[in-house]
Amino acid sequence: MQSAFPLQNALLLMRLPRSLAAAALVLLFAAGTASAQSPPAEGRDAPRNVVLMIADGAGPASFTMARDFERYRQGEPEGLDGLPEGGVRLALDALELGSIQTYAANSRITDSAAGATAFSTGHKTNNGFVAVDTAGRPLATLLEAAQRRGMATGLVATSRLTHATPASFAAHTPDRWKENKIARQLLAHEVDLMLGGGRRHFLPQSAEDSEREDGRDLLDEAREAGYTVVTGRDGFQQVDALPVLGVFANGHLPYVIDRDSGKIPSLEAMTQKALRLLSESERGRKNGVFLMVEGSRIDHAGHNNDAAAHLRETLAYDDAVAAAQRFAERDGETLLLSTADHGTGGLSLGRNIDGEGRYAWKPSALAEVEASHGVMMRQVIEEGADPATVLRRQAGVDSLAAGEREMLAEAVEAESYGRLEAALSEIIGRRAVVGWTTGGHTAADVGLYGYGPGAERFVGHHDNTYVGAELAELLGVDLDALTAEIRREREERAATVAGSE
Ligand SMILES: [Zn+2]
Repeated sequence: MQSAFPLQNALLLMRLPRSLAAAALVLLFAAGTASAQSPPAEGRDAPRNVVLMIADGAGPASFTMARDFERYRQGEPEGLDGLPEGGVRLALDALELGSIQTYAANSRITDSAAGATAFSTGHKTNNGFVAVDTAGRPLATLLEAAQRRGMATGLVATSRLTHATPASFAAHTPDRWKENKIARQLLAHEVDLMLGGGRRHFLPQSAEDSEREDGRDLLDEAREAGYTVVTGRDGFQQVDALPVLGVFANGHLPYVIDRDSGKIPSLEAMTQKALRLLSESERGRKNGVFLMVEGSRIDHAGHNNDAAAHLRETLAYDDAVAAAQRFAERDGETLLLSTADHGTGGLSLGRNIDGEGRYAWKPSALAEVEASHGVMMRQVIEEGADPATVLRRQAGVDSLAAGEREMLAEAVEAESYGRLEAALSEIIGRRAVVGWTTGGHTAADVGLYGYGPGAERFVGHHDNTYVGAELAELLGVDLDALTAEIRREREERAATVAGSE
């Protein structure tokens, strides 16, 4: 596994005494500066395949929570008595390289569109903007550049495929919520493999669950264009050739904690399948693979302040990272990068309870939780179930304090999903001793992880745009030149349309 050596060397340097490490870092940075001015990478540190993985909404506390939970689940004691040093590790733990700052062009706190655009194009843009600059003009993406280099390309997500992160690799729009238009653009881009949710943006208006405002059946159009279209796990398992479009839910894929795994493929399974089909395809064999994989719903559970759902999404993402790393180890020419666009929810392990800062957090309380807030809320508000009973059955909460019962009663009385969600988060959070500071995103730095040829270039602290810019350099593609080309093509198309009118 010669590919691992540069990374291991970089990591070894980081374990040296501080003075030596500082000198070593100067050398590393000097090397980085030189490479930024040199022609596209070739030879030893140029990856043939690039797998970019994005843990949407996962801040540093997300991974600590997932690791502690996994240690508890695998039988380590919850208290410190007898807790072994080391112990269970996340796949990501062995791959940590540094961190990135995430602010957007128009906000200290980014959204997923501006965050993904920084990765896909190497440029800052405004929140809500999908692979366009702050003036709304298209910016070429790594996926588009990889296609023009003849590489096999893929997008895998647990959200709707039309959601901001996957969209930012194969669509251009200053409005991330124009998902019907994004669905059209995804197909027009002829991405070799797309797996995720969001069927409602591909179905014609006449279909029951459609969100489209026209009669176009994009699933039919995909079939006519040669795609194998799959909508369930059976079809997913059988599909064996590109191009493939898999849409496994009408909206986002269900949370892992709620999911019928017989119906929906896991993120790990989708990642494995994508890597196999892409790398074995003619283009993949000849020119390599560019694949983006997103653990999309870590973010959604963060918005919901739903700790149990958040940590299970994070663990499922880590399983997918492990699968990608196994592929990269076998292959030896694959650069695997993992990062996040931003943290979500302001998760805290340890919190104030009744005015006292508690030095504890209890994975055992989250191990009891068997459903997301969304499922529990539907049982209470739509089916009229007693919230205390739902909390006992679904979250292992045996008794409620008077104040907690009051919170629940008020939320039920008002039929307020928002207040019920806040009550569930507070009641479960007090038992697990975890807290949340926002229902939105945070500005905190997020981790950067990597493995394989070129990974050493990402050691240290960087801007989020560095990820896109450096990947372009490693792939030997000129995104600025491609941006100019794409804008020229657009103008020519517009002129042709105007001329024919
Ligand atoms: Zn979000």
